[in-house]
Amino acid sequence: MISKNMKVLVDKSAAISALFSEGKRMRQVLGDENVFDFGIGNPNVKAPLSVNKTAIEILENMDSLAIHSYTDGGGIPAVRQAIAESLNRRFNEEYTEENIVMTAGAAGGLNVIFKVLLDQGDEVLTFAPYFGEYDAYVANAGGILIAIKPNIPSFLPDPEKLSDAITSKTKAVIINNPNNPTGVVYDKEIIRKVAHVLKVKEKEFGTSIYLISDEPYRELVFDGVMVPYIPKVYDNTIVAYSFSKSLSLPGDRIGYLTIPSTVSDFQDVAYGAGVANRVLGFVNAPALQQLVVAKCCDEKTDVAFYDKNREVLYNALKEYGFQCAKPQGAFYLFVKAMEEDDVAFINKAKEFGILMTPGSGFGCKGYARIAYCVARETIEGALPSFEKLAKAYGK
Ligand code: PLP
Repeated sequence: MISKNMKVLVDKSAAISALFSEGKRMRQVLGDENVFDFGIGNPNVKAPLSVNKTAIEILENMDSLAIHSYTDGGGIPAVRQAIAESLNRRFNEEYTEENIVMTAGAAGGLNVIFKVLLDQGDEVLTFAPYFGEYDAYVANAGGILIAIKPNIPSFLPDPEKLSDAITSKTKAVIINNPNNPTGVVYDKEIIRKVAHVLKVKEKEFGTSIYLISDEPYRELVFDGVMVPYIPKVYDNTIVAYSFSKSLSLPGDRIGYLTIPSTVSDFQDVAYGAGVANRVLGFVNAPALQQLVVAKCCDEKTDVAFYDKNREVLYNALKEYGFQCAKPQGAFYLFVKAMEEDDVAFINKAKEFGILMTPGSGFGCKGYARIAYCVARETIEGALPSFEKLAKAYGK
């Protein structure tokens, strides 16, 4: 029999698991050409050519034993140094390999950092809507995730609600910028306000509150919007980064944590992260992918592709009568469900061949997430179905 804890996680993740099987089922019933799958955030842009070329070069030219060996828990020192230097160029920092821990994507990085920071019963705060996997990541480390109610319609963090939610047990706050599922980008002003609240509360409770910034979508921004570099605003920030979206490598499981020397108990946290990688069973981030991203970390994905998808879909949805804010980053649109029950709305959309994710999976009922990281034909093919869906609700 599986554990009670696991049963809770299985039930909670049913919506996401269902997306994989549901797409398949709908294709069988409606035919491939009539199904428009906006369920999962799997990039439809290929990885830059240089990524595959670099992998081939490494495999052809480096000693095979060296490529495939276990690495340090924190990653290969030269790789960590290369990432640190890239960040120094981009953000005018002075990082060294000591500040970087290579991880199995952002998911691996978040599990690692929660393992390092949390004692049983410690609280981690986040702002709804939020990436639903955070519940499990925090629970894996014995913590409790507390979601602050959504700030509708801006979906920005609400500093006052944050202030009210912090207790002496608050060990960390996790934010995701640019945001999945809303596509909202938090600007420097709002980050400053959040930082101010954290500093006030650290003083009040005599605690350290870490700000964990989950940034797999950092480079996916539109209209010249800037994503603030949060360690510049709040010393106690740890950044979880991933190449899953920025280089379209979600299956390769590669990313890193940036742990600035300014965070509380820096030495322990940085060293602990390498140990956590090992004891959580990742052992180390995939060695070949570490070597690849050390050389390709400054490569860019085709943001214009996502931007065009965004424009086509957003403009059409507005015309059909859907309510949604224009996303500034990531590759998601968060639309208001056309009836109170978002799951019923999602089910209605399925009748028209459209697969979306219910907002309740992100702690925000009454909305639906559309992952528009799909082929252009999927967007264009889906538009008549979206129009029919709106008409079914009298729009
Ligand atoms: N955080 C957010 C907000 C995400 O959207 C995702 C993946 O979709 C992850 C973390 C995990 O990404 P990774 O593939 O880097 O583990």
